[in-house]
Amino acid sequence: MNCRDATQLASRGMDTQLGLAEQLLLWGHLGTCRHCARFRRQMTTLRALGAAYAKAGPRPPADPADAASSGPRR
Ligand SMILES: [Zn+2]
Repeated sequence: MNCRDATQLASRGMDTQLGLAEQLLLWGHLGTCRHCARFRRQMTTLRALGAAYAKAGPRPPADPADAASSGPRR
C-alpha cells in the first residue's frame, strides 16, 4: 500500500465501513507513515467541524439596528 492508496482508503472509510482486510492494510500504513496519519487526523477534525456546523445551522445575519443601538448615544 502506498500513500495514495492509503489516503483513498482513509477517505472512503469516513463514509463507508471498510472491509477487515482494507482496515488492516490502512492501519498498517498509518502506523508507519506519519504523513497519512496526519492526513487522516485532519480529515477527522474537518468532518467533526462540518458536522457541528451542520447541526448548529446557519446563523441569521446580525441585525443592523442592534449594532446601531449599541453605539454611543447622542
Ligand atoms: Zn502514507
